[in-house]
Amino acid sequence: LRDAVNGRNGAVAGLAGVLDALTAHRVHVLLVSDGYEAPGWHCGGCGRLAAVGRACPACKTTMDPVDDVVEAAVDRAMAQRIRLDVVVGNADLDVLGRIGALLRY
Ligand SMILES: [Zn+2]
Repeated sequence: LRDAVNGRNGAVAGLAGVLDALTAHRVHVLLVSDGYEAPGWHCGGCGRLAAVGRACPACKTTMDPVDDVVEAAVDRAMAQRIRLDVVVGNADLDVLGRIGALLRY
């Protein structure tokens, strides 16, 4: 993941980038640091998950705050049958924002 992110080649890291990729159905493997939680936003209009609110960047609907958008992202990944890796004690992933994804394309 780290090499792919550094080369901007087939991967994203950090909450905002991962949520965008998830919304676009581009995630192949989702990597989450064990215990990572973060507040975020959910759009009732188009279903987008986002790190920053309050207006949805896609459909301009006012989004609802979510206590833990990481959990919501994991649920979304499961629904999309995406492979999920929960990573324990990986400093590389922590530096990258505690969440990352390998992309389909
Ligand atoms: Zn929306």
